[in-house]
Amino acid sequence: MDKQALLSNIVHGEQSGYVPPELVSTAAAYPEAPQDEEYASAPPANMLDDVVGYEGTTAGGEGRFVPPPISIVEGARRDEPQPQRAWSIPSISEQTAREALLQFASSVCCYSTRPAKQMVFRDLRPYNTFRYRLESFTESRSTEWTTVPYKGQFVDGNVYGLPPLPWDIIVEMPLMFHNHIRNVPVPHTSSIKGCHSCMAMGRRACTNCTATGRVRCQVCNGRGYRLSDDQCNHCNGNGLHRCSLCSGSGTKPCKTCEQSGQLMVYIQLTVKWQNNILEQVADQQSGLPVEAYEKVTGQNVLTDEQVMVYPIVGFPEAQVNRASQKAIQQHQVQLARTSRIIQQRQIIEFIPVTQVFYEWKDKEYNYFTCGVENKVYAPDYPAKCCCCSIL
Ligand SMILES: [Zn+2]
Ligand SMILES: [Zn+2]
Ligand SMILES: [Zn+2]
Repeated sequence: MDKQALLSNIVHGEQSGYVPPELVSTAAAYPEAPQDEEYASAPPANMLDDVVGYEGTTAGGEGRFVPPPISIVEGARRDEPQPQRAWSIPSISEQTAREALLQFASSVCCYSTRPAKQMVFRDLRPYNTFRYRLESFTESRSTEWTTVPYKGQFVDGNVYGLPPLPWDIIVEMPLMFHNHIRNVPVPHTSSIKGCHSCMAMGRRACTNCTATGRVRCQVCNGRGYRLSDDQCNHCNGNGLHRCSLCSGSGTKPCKTCEQSGQLMVYIQLTVKWQNNILEQVADQQSGLPVEAYEKVTGQNVLTDEQVMVYPIVGFPEAQVNRASQKAIQQHQVQLARTSRIIQQRQIIEFIPVTQVFYEWKDKEYNYFTCGVENKVYAPDYPAKCCCCSIL
């Protein structure tokens, strides 16, 4: 395809930047097709043209997934990550440990703050660790035949040229590392067909009255008279009255074509961007459950963003090196087959963790502080009920 033809295929998205994933842009000429369960709106196969490069594209369902062309990132520039070696390891003080526990005890409504105020410190043991995260921002494409009512809008048919292949269509990309879906019509695949739902009539037979325009009278059950032999005044003795759903016409407007009798049939390309995340915390055998790390903030040690990141080697914590190698490999296997990896980002965070041992009323207890916010994890906190602390 020459450059000019390619340029004409550029499909512009919104100018306002990021749009939430549920908002899907479609060119104005292609309004959303009406959805109605009564009508089979998916066009039958004999209504669909043969389009080179789009064989196997069906109507309805989830669309035909189109694998990306052979990776184009081979030979792309790859930078070795340079972890910042001189990170600070904050060792928490007794003062900070007490404040954290006090705050924890007062945040739970029936916990007493007394142990936190009165405790005697025995030991503060650091279990500082690292969190590794890999983000792979991918794009996948699928195609599907679809229809909209034809109301005289522009028809981008095959007279304007050959349709570009799915991965040759230029679609404006959203913000990197954000999930997003965009639907665009494939250029030069549109054509006008008679509506299959109404045989191009624009109206369909009313199913309520089987197209007669009249239904049986509910009051006299169609007899025309009541038990007392009086004539039924609801239907004037006819036993039938006007169908309220079609106003007696026997037909209803076709929702598939919105009464136009014609449909514009075209191939729709669905482009899906997804941020895939793998995360792992180096296990320091501290006894702190993994879930405890999920909501805490770490201190950034390294951010490495490239088209394709390299596994981290030589980081002081060997588990981070292994996590990086495993995650990159896993994303390659999982994602590269079905989508194109546009950009990757790996992040290492330092997570301060301290186990605090203390004594209160001649008994020993311990708790953890975790993350830069010193979030407390204290399942054996001694005064879980206000009444106990009175003793
Ligand atoms: Zn009646
Ligand atoms: Zn009717
Ligand atoms: Zn129709």
